[in-house]
Amino acid sequence: MPHIAIAGAGLVGSLLAIHLSKRGYSIDVYERRSDMRRTTIGAGRSINLALSHRGFRALQEVGMEGDLRQIGIPMYGRMVHATDGSQSFQPYGEAEQAIFSVSRAELNKKLMTAAEQQANVRFHFDHRCLYFDTDDYELHLQNTATQTEQTLSTDLIIGADGAFSAIRGGMQRSDRFNYSQQYLEHAYKELCIAPLPDGNWAMEKNALHISACKRFMLIALPNLDGSFTCTLFLPYQGSPSFDDLQQPDDVLRFSKLTLPMPYR
Ligand SMILES: Cc1cc2nc3c(=O)[nH]c(=O)nc-3n(C[C@H](O)[C@H](O)[C@H](O)COP(=O)(O)OP(=O)(O)OC[C@H]3O[C@@H](n4cnc5c(N)ncnc54)[C@H](O)[C@@H]3O)c2cc1C
Repeated sequence: MPHIAIAGAGLVGSLLAIHLSKRGYSIDVYERRSDMRRTTIGAGRSINLALSHRGFRALQEVGMEGDLRQIGIPMYGRMVHATDGSQSFQPYGEAEQAIFSVSRAELNKKLMTAAEQQANVRFHFDHRCLYFDTDDYELHLQNTATQTEQTLSTDLIIGADGAFSAIRGGMQRSDRFNYSQQYLEHAYKELCIAPLPDGNWAMEKNALHISACKRFMLIALPNLDGSFTCTLFLPYQGSPSFDDLQQPDDVLRFSKLTLPMPYR
């Protein structure tokens, strides 16, 4: 049975482990963080994400569409908020067509558990990939719990270790490897709309809420607990920008003038 090592047990690494195990490969997944099912990890990235047909299909292919419906909220369209407070609903498709607001952590946990249920998949948490040696085709790993290092030789190594991939870092040191990186003018900040006192959603639950002006955009996705997670995209510099928002008063002024949603 060919053996595959995957660096990173995020959404891609975990889902890939399920797919490849079903094709008969033997899989070891190395994840630098502790097992998120057993420890509390700070959000770091967005709390929820909008999953569209492509993501839905990937889960369907491994028989997990039911899991998605347990942890996701269908959003049948976008609710556009104008600065005067008026709202207009724009459906994404026909009656039952939706994208899903899904908890990133819960989805990741479900994917890990489903992968682990395959006999030929093993997860190794607290294992950081230090570098990838393309000449010898070896993966250098550090067990961050014991501070020990190991070198792994295997049939295939797959990098699913996210934005600052150590695997890609190793490949960049090989001949004729092209790489480019561009930075956006915009940064983002997560905000929250709390549930109403009776536990209900403060806005339409089954919609992706958007408020946009020329220079910024605020979106809000519903969570199962009655809250919304909002993301404010705003330029680093200029006016308005995150640079402008230094004091609490600046933030209040900006929000009253420009953002119609009741976030805090
Ligand atoms: C603010 C924000 C909002 C987003 N919203 C959406 C959305 O609404 N819908 C959507 O589809 N996508 C969204 N995305 C994109 C989505 O998050 C990514 O496409 C997705 O997370 C990529 O999954 P991944 O498994 O490749 O990487 P990641 O999710 O980053 O996972 C990488 C994993 O590798 C581990 N790792 C990193 N380095 C090492 C190492 N050296 N050794 C071992 N393990 C390592 C990490 O701990 C992590 O577990 C959003 C991204 C951001 C930043």
